[in-house]
Amino acid sequence: MSERVLVGAGVGTGIAIGPAFKYTTARRVSWDSDKAGSSRGLLAISAAIAQVETDLTDSAKGVDEESADILDALRLTLSDPSLLAGIKERLADGANSQRAVAGAFAGAAKALSSLGEYFAARAADVEELGDRVIQVLSGEHETQFPNEPFVLVADSVGPIEMSRLQGTAIVGLVISSGSATSHTAILARAANLPTIVSVLGAELIKGGDQLIVDSSSGQVLVNPDELEIAQYEDAVVKVITSVVVSGQDLGVELYANLGSSSEADSALAFGAQGVGLFRTELLFLGAKKSPSLREQVLEYSRLLSAFANKRVIARVLDLDTDKPLPFLTLTESGKYANRGFQALLANPVVLETQLEALAESSKHHPEAELWVMAPMITTSEQAKQFVSMAKGYGLTKVGVMIEVPEVCREDVLAEILSVVDFVSIGTNDLTQYTLGLDRANSAISLSDVRRPEVLTLIERVITVAKNLGKPVGICGEAASDPISAKLFIHYGVTSLSLSPALLPGLIRTLKN
Ligand code: PEP
Ligand code: MG
Repeated sequence: MSERVLVGAGVGTGIAIGPAFKYTTARRVSWDSDKAGSSRGLLAISAAIAQVETDLTDSAKGVDEESADILDALRLTLSDPSLLAGIKERLADGANSQRAVAGAFAGAAKALSSLGEYFAARAADVEELGDRVIQVLSGEHETQFPNEPFVLVADSVGPIEMSRLQGTAIVGLVISSGSATSHTAILARAANLPTIVSVLGAELIKGGDQLIVDSSSGQVLVNPDELEIAQYEDAVVKVITSVVVSGQDLGVELYANLGSSSEADSALAFGAQGVGLFRTELLFLGAKKSPSLREQVLEYSRLLSAFANKRVIARVLDLDTDKPLPFLTLTESGKYANRGFQALLANPVVLETQLEALAESSKHHPEAELWVMAPMITTSEQAKQFVSMAKGYGLTKVGVMIEVPEVCREDVLAEILSVVDFVSIGTNDLTQYTLGLDRANSAISLSDVRRPEVLTLIERVITVAKNLGKPVGICGEAASDPISAKLFIHYGVTSLSLSPALLPGLIRTLKN
């Protein structure tokens, strides 16, 4: 298995494989007085702005209409009289030219972001314009990008930088900030560049790390193992040849694992029959306060409306100990502390708001069949508690994930299955906890799920669920491994859920 898997919001379709090239857009603004004196400052700034305008005009040539419109709009922003007034004011107050530009653009960006979410994304564009003008003013050399294929890993990449990247050997983009609706995301989609924005933990990637950028599931696999590379290389070929295959007649539902509603279209294009795991973490991780009911309803509604007449299994927040959130209380220490359902129990308002948001979204979008499940259930009592809470909000199909060996005992399983509507096996965690290995290091490989200790548990869960007539799915990475998938189907699993990009390859193998 890869050294680590980072998640974000995938943009567009496609997969990129390549080494990381780290890049920072943060510019140091000089405090030195202007060499030619402040009277010449305005002249220098005007020349720098004119240079950026020319660059934008050039970049807008030869790109699609939507991208050209974005670049044109940015160019027009530069001639906004209030920006020039802000610059003059700051020069008159004694600022050097770089400080005057930085202050005026930051002021304009701040005014924009106070207008709401839509304008906040535009504010980032204005800041990038300011950075670009400062770069020209300082005579700083432009970054030399590698000649060999590379995946750019950056804190932020604005539309101007995006247009500069076209024509380089870039194959994928990983950005720690931004949103799936930003101008950068639109340009990336137009350029068919596999991109993931809002990637949590992107700073952990080191230059030269081998990356798989899977924009269909919003996952970045850092230093993947050979099996994963082979699977994704295969998927790249499938994307290029855009073979549309269907899993209808395989006797098992084939679902997609998603981390953001922005991945819905590509999942459908890859033939997903529904969503088997919607990881809701992205809404929470990296946030300073708990996402509001409204924010959550919007995101879940976007997803449900994209999957009309299909099933969507949403998982409530699954926390991981290494990512404490400022607005959450940590649980006591102990096995599985601060993970999954146990962590949610220590933060009941967060769980209740999420259940309410899911129930409300489902009411707005009855066209999709919403199922809801809890992660990392460690006792049958927890399963009962979750089911009763979720049903209290009017959610009709409620299940739990089977991810720890303690709940794979026959008696515990029987108790759990008597209260839930379905179960889903999380093979990633079940493998690490059964074998006592750490998933965050590369000691686990995708095929470890087939080690007898783990496989016995999986077979038992499937058999007990099947005997009780309850749906049982697999939503860990192992679902994408053809040998394991065949075994799971043989045991009687009702669904397999995996990265959408890997669906065509799996379907093809299963059909043969
Ligand atoms: C799993 O553990 O297999 C799973 C699907 O959950 P996650 O990878 O999000 O922990
Ligand atoms: Mg898990």
